[in-house]
Amino acid sequence: MNSPEYIQCRHCGDEITSDSEYCPHCGSLFSETGGVWCDNHPEVEAAGICIICRTLVCAGCGKAVHGKFLCHDHAKVEVRQDWARVFQSTEINDSTLVKAFLESNGFKVLGQNFNPMGYVWDGGGDSSLSRSAISKPAKVFVPIPEYLKAEAALAEWKSGEAEPNEEDMRNRP
Ligand SMILES: [Zn+2]
Ligand SMILES: [Zn+2]
Ligand SMILES: [Zn+2]
Repeated sequence: MNSPEYIQCRHCGDEITSDSEYCPHCGSLFSETGGVWCDNHPEVEAAGICIICRTLVCAGCGKAVHGKFLCHDHAKVEVRQDWARVFQSTEINDSTLVKAFLESNGFKVLGQNFNPMGYVWDGGGDSSLSRSAISKPAKVFVPIPEYLKAEAALAEWKSGEAEPNEEDMRNRP
C-alpha cells in the first residue's frame, strides 16, 4: 500500500500530500505541464482554485486574497487559516443564534468577538464601551470545506423565518 507522502506547499508552507494537484489551503495549482483550464473560460489557463467552492479560476475571474485563491463570488469571504466567515453581525444575539444553530446541526464553529462586553447595553447610553462593541461585529467561522454547506443551511433556516408576520400584513396597502 502506498500511503501518500506529506510535503509542504511551496506557496503557503502548509502540509499537503505529494500527489495533490492543488493546495487546499491556498488554492495554488501544482500542474507543471499546464493544461488546467478556467472553469468559466475553457480557453484560458487556470491561475488557481477557489479554496471555498473548488472552482478553477483564471486571473480574470479569481484572485489571491492574503495568499489564498478565491473566485469572485467568494473573494469577500473572510478567511482565517482554514476557517471561513459564514456570518457576522454587530448584534451579538444574532451571531449567538447563528452559532448555536450551526452547532446543533453538527458544524464545527469558531466565534470571534463574542465578548461579554457586547452585552453592556442595558444603560442605553452611547458610552465609549457600547460604541466599541458596536464597531466589532461578532463573527462566526466554519471550516473552509464546510462553508458551502453551512451557508446553504443558514439560507434555508432564514427563508423559513422570513414568512410575513402580522405586522407586515397590516401595513400592506
Ligand atoms: Zn498552499
Ligand atoms: Zn468560490
Ligand atoms: Zn476565467
